[in-house]
Amino acid sequence: MNSIYNYSREKLDLYFLDKSQTKFRSTQVFEALYKQKTTDFSEITNFKLELRELLKEDFYIPKFKIMKMQESLDETKKFLFELEDGNLIETVLMKNSYGYSICITTQAGCNMGCAFCASGLTKKKRNLTTSEMVQQVLEVDNIINKEGKRVSHIVLMGIGEPFDNYDNVLEFLRIVNDQKGLEIGSRHITISTCGIVPKIYEFAEFPLQVNLAISLHFSNNEKRSKYMKINKKYPLDELFKAVDFYFEKTNRRLTFEYILLNDVNDSLEDAKELVKLIKGRNAYVNLIPYNNTNIFTNSILLTRSTEEKMKAFYDYLKKNKINVTLRKEQGHDIDAACGQLRLKEIQWKV
Ligand code: SAH
Repeated sequence: MNSIYNYSREKLDLYFLDKSQTKFRSTQVFEALYKQKTTDFSEITNFKLELRELLKEDFYIPKFKIMKMQESLDETKKFLFELEDGNLIETVLMKNSYGYSICITTQAGCNMGCAFCASGLTKKKRNLTTSEMVQQVLEVDNIINKEGKRVSHIVLMGIGEPFDNYDNVLEFLRIVNDQKGLEIGSRHITISTCGIVPKIYEFAEFPLQVNLAISLHFSNNEKRSKYMKINKKYPLDELFKAVDFYFEKTNRRLTFEYILLNDVNDSLEDAKELVKLIKGRNAYVNLIPYNNTNIFTNSILLTRSTEEKMKAFYDYLKKNKINVTLRKEQGHDIDAACGQLRLKEIQWKV
């Protein structure tokens, strides 16, 4: 049987048309699921009994098992959910000045193998379904609704590579953005990729105005290939061709993410190279303080840049008229960095 959360309204329309019903039925189902937050088809009282029975035959409404919830001093909440097949995933909720944003996981594990990222240490087990992504938002939203709050922003920056799970992710975007669904504005949603070039071209044609972020982290091929496997397949010139196509097609600004790693990519020389690479493009750089893990690469322990170096890097970019922000840290006391909670949980289990 299929989870109803796998279905965008467009897909549900097709289902109802096939059952000789009007499209309005899918609007009613959406309102019940995402506005009233129904968890039982019997509660859709504007449906005849017969139609409710039909839904029950073809679909079910799943629920995650919450394995763990941690809350940090800055109100960041981290959830560990168990999927039906026993896989564990994590979701992080952050409080911002503009609302509550949720960072969702798109795959169980990840195959991109970025040398600095804890997620890559556990290989991809499988793609998450659309439903499993929708459920992360719903579960967390339900919890904070009780405190009179709501999830207003979504970032696809948890474990996994969203563009390696492209179709399910796009269907997820349609559902959360739908006015009859969770109604999260497309400009409040950001999808982050390590740079799967063919998908950047495809995504440029996607009609919803969702923000795109590229995990750049290094500004020359030699370094980038050393730390990010994806760069061997799609080196910087190919990545930037795709990025320029994206600009041309969408006219939208995009974000380059840049983790600052001590003595690896945080020198003024690195900053200079970065400026050269992105100058004149409609983009801004989000500098990210590295969340220390215990990862050794080429027998060096990767660590966060010092405050002074981060500041100097930031200042250099600013001075050169690059739009730049230095990400404020959240949830540091609860391991809210990519992959850390899940990794711990797995280590406890074995
Ligand atoms: N695969 C996608 C999305 C998931 S990772 C991508 O690569 O963009 C989300 C962001 O967190 C990426 O920019 C990633 O490089 C970064 N990241 C990974 N490990 C980190 C760490 N320990 N500290 C800070 N950022 C990290």
